[in-house]
Amino acid sequence: MVNPRPKIRYACALKCVYCGQTRLQKPGSWFVFAQGCPQCDYRYEREAGYFTGASWMIAYPVLALMGLSLSLLFKLVLFPKLPTLVILLLVSLLSLFIAVLLIPYCMSAWMCVDHFLHPLDQNDSYTQPPKH
Ligand SMILES: [Zn+2]
Repeated sequence: MVNPRPKIRYACALKCVYCGQTRLQKPGSWFVFAQGCPQCDYRYEREAGYFTGASWMIAYPVLALMGLSLSLLFKLVLFPKLPTLVILLLVSLLSLFIAVLLIPYCMSAWMCVDHFLHPLDQNDSYTQPPKH
């Protein structure tokens, strides 16, 4: 198994964060990631619930900031005469759509950050069972 540093540009392209050659998602799926990378033998999901961190630490703050920014933009600049409740409904619907697009990127960013902090070891092999 190679042990390079993860690359954020590969994560942004939704490719293996080490080799950049294989897609992170299973074919035909937007949300479900493959088991691992056959090129560099890297297991994507290091443990059960691994991608929960992507939701809590990356997706929620990003969506909250985006929702707040859009609400202020709509209310103060674009549609100042629209009732606040209508603006909140519009921003909520827009945020749901953006969240669907954003989740895989948050998961790949989470992988990259996690691997900067905890580099690969023998338990991250895609083809070998974990040796705990
Ligand atoms: Zn790879």
